Amino acid sequence: MRVRNLFLRFSARFVNRRPGLLLAALCLAACVAALSPAPVEAASTGSAAEAATASATPTGVSTGSPSAKDSVGKDSTTKAQHEAQREAEIQREFAAQLYYERLDRLNAVAWPLVSANEALCRQRGKAHPSLGLVADSFSRRANRQWFQALCALWGVGADTAVITGVMPGGPAALAGVRRGDVLRSAGGKPVEPSGRPGELTRRLDELAASGPVVLELSRAGEPAPVTVTIAAAAPVCDTRFTVVVGDAVNAYADGKSVFVTYGAMNLYAKDEDLAVVLGHEMAHNILGHVRQDASGKAVGTTTPQQETEADAVGLYFTARAGFSVKDAPRVWRRLAAQDPAHISAGGDHPSTAARFLNLGAVRDEILMRQAAGLPLIPRPRVGPGQ
Ligand SMILES: [Zn+2]
Repeated sequence: MRVRNLFLRFSARFVNRRPGLLLAALCLAACVAALSPAPVEAASTGSAAEAATASATPTGVSTGSPSAKDSVGKDSTTKAQHEAQREAEIQREFAAQLYYERLDRLNAVAWPLVSANEALCRQRGKAHPSLGLVADSFSRRANRQWFQALCALWGVGADTAVITGVMPGGPAALAGVRRGDVLRSAGGKPVEPSGRPGELTRRLDELAASGPVVLELSRAGEPAPVTVTIAAAAPVCDTRFTVVVGDAVNAYADGKSVFVTYGAMNLYAKDEDLAVVLGHEMAHNILGHVRQDASGKAVGTTTPQQETEADAVGLYFTARAGFSVKDAPRVWRRLAAQDPAHISAGGDHPSTAARFLNLGAVRDEILMRQAAGLPLIPRPRVGPGQ
């Protein structure tokens, strides 16, 4: 898949967009972890969306009373508008729910990748401690027309920190943190909300540097706050994972995060296939293939050699994370079938035909090493200065 700066192409993605940054909103997994989504349509739009936002402050139906006929007409129009606004909110809530379901799947596949490969990432100075959770808060300013739907979905008010993702098998999950828990305090201090995607999660991960982290949580059905102690963070690779709303089949990396569209997640319905794609993109980040300008924005494109290297190192990442790589090359046949232009594509990327064959050779190498009980160290080795 490609490393591109096409963020703006996805006009409906649920992401906060900050000027000059590529960024996305949710990151997931701890480093995957991420951040959370805050769905916000990147570009704005539509009157329906604006109307829904407006409906947050219930305005009364018309109060004036010109003529009886006019009044009836206005009432009728207003009623229809309000019904459409209510329906729009319901649809946004469904959309947000689907978004988080996708994010949960992405987190579940990404967490093993970032945790099992931490030693290789650390060699390149690209690892950090993570609690294995995603926290977020919502505000009308940051989330705009999605504000109400997000608050309704998570059952919280404005500027309230809530756990929107828990990495399966991660430190937070093992300590008993649950998705939907409201975060009252962390490390003995109240949790300040943040409109910046991922910031809350990063702040919480940073707390782990000074020892065990005590979280005070409010949980539905529990009359009193629940206190959870996360004894130790897990070291993970420096890559966050984000879902991008859109049917286009694409995945890309910007040096810090990996972005995966709904279309790619649909095409790769098996987690072991999705893991191959995520491993490839993560390899671009860890190997330093993505050039960034002074503001951190990804610039330029990768070379065919870098693509081949990311295919190889990414497949090692995938195997080390515990996924079967036996059928890994099929991801290229599936992409070719979905988008035949890739079959003979040139330019920045090798063709899907070449990539199928190359990945098959790497797959054979990995299977041989696994059978022989040899360590799975990718070639070229992921090491300092390489
Ligand atoms: Zn690539």
